[in-house]
Amino acid sequence: MSNAIGIVITDHIVAGRLENHRPTAKPLRFPADAAEPDALAALPPTELVEILAGQIDFLAKADPRPLDAIGVAIPGIIRHGVVEDSPNLTQMKGMRLAADLTEKLAARGIVVPVYAANDADAIAAGVAATHGRLEKLTRVWTIGNGIGYGRWPYVEGVWEGGHITVTLDPKERYCGCGGIGHLEGIMGYRAMRMRFLDLEPEEVFANAKEGDQRCREFVDLWHRALAAATASFIHLAGPGRFYFTGHNVGWVDLPTLRADIEAMVKMTSLQSFSLEVLPPDDETALLGAGVSAIRALEG
Ligand SMILES: [Zn+2]
Repeated sequence: MSNAIGIVITDHIVAGRLENHRPTAKPLRFPADAAEPDALAALPPTELVEILAGQIDFLAKADPRPLDAIGVAIPGIIRHGVVEDSPNLTQMKGMRLAADLTEKLAARGIVVPVYAANDADAIAAGVAATHGRLEKLTRVWTIGNGIGYGRWPYVEGVWEGGHITVTLDPKERYCGCGGIGHLEGIMGYRAMRMRFLDLEPEEVFANAKEGDQRCREFVDLWHRALAAATASFIHLAGPGRFYFTGHNVGWVDLPTLRADIEAMVKMTSLQSFSLEVLPPDDETALLGAGVSAIRALEG
């Protein structure tokens, strides 16, 4: 029996209670109005922690069962409860998220271990829990404004898969981190806007479907970049299942991606990989945040 609270911070916050790795009620959302996309970007870190504490306080008091753990998922490099880097929530960089939140909660009389995880890792944990494969290696690509790579079970490391180098072309310099030839510099939303100054990414994919040469070439490159990164992880950690999700996962054409990976992975013992697209939802990450926290507690 486990009782946890899972929280996911992306361009909004969702928080919900979990019992035995299952949500018990509809999660809370901040801002309540989904039409405020940049609400978090302008928020000072102390206010953000205060909002998290308020949500946890509400959820903790709404249900009398004692909590075992609280898990917070956030984009960026998260190690030992510290946000070492978070390119899309820059104000969080350097923040001792787990410690700060623990302190704020203690002031409200809530003494429960807090665990912080990378958001893509949390999605991988959530997918593994939902599919009953918590004992197996699960890898997830999240395709949104940035490109995230998550894996379950958690292992020590950085795992910034979105910044893996997929091309040696010195002109490939659109990655938000400034690195040359990165996956996110091809696939990221912001990177695509920089490449196609005259077209929105949605138009690029629509035009490609209608046969526009320049857009088709780019959509090919976009798929080959994702294939290259996936093939690299197959060559490092072995085949197995890869999931694809995120706001822009609708642009992934699985047959194209599969053909591209097959062209890159030729050793027969590595060819048993499988690919699956999952519709994006906050609940998977929320669930994963809670599962990661409970597992971290169990050591
Ligand atoms: Zn990069």
